Amino acid sequence: MEMKIRTYGDPVLRKKSEKIDDINEELLELIEYMKKTMYSASGIGLAAPQVGINKRLFIIDIGEGIKTIINPEFIESNSSIIEMEEGCLSIPGTYKKVKRPEKVTVKYLNEKGEEIIEEADGIYARALQHENDHLDGIMFVDRLSTVGKKLVSKKLDAIKKETLKNL
Ligand SMILES: [Zn+2]
Repeated sequence: MEMKIRTYGDPVLRKKSEKIDDINEELLELIEYMKKTMYSASGIGLAAPQVGINKRLFIIDIGEGIKTIINPEFIESNSSIIEMEEGCLSIPGTYKKVKRPEKVTVKYLNEKGEEIIEEADGIYARALQHENDHLDGIMFVDRLSTVGKKLVSKKLDAIKKETLKNL
């Protein structure tokens, strides 16, 4: 089953998601649906709130296989800040450069419930931070400069209008 991808303006994208305390059949089914949904939309990452579920879960596939990330926590690290272009399945057709740490260390559970600690850089580090933001109701356009925000405001207004019409 493919799920509907929620778009900018949908209140579900602005809620803080809840920690998952049981990796059960229902959750594994949700993960399968999310994978189908992400691949069919040609995305490299998808967070549960983007399909209307406010749980701390996302999936990433940057071309090196699928990763399921449950209850992620970022461990403080000193990293330089770099700019990289980002897009989002919830904000179709909008790509902008965003400043974020180049490297991150993340601790999470995979879908087998195993605790994983990973150091990441490049596109993977970027995707981890972008998707994690979704769990806190933050979208990448929130992280743009004042000028950057101005440049996307019309587009965002248009997407929001369409979203609200179809809610
Ligand atoms: Zn996104």
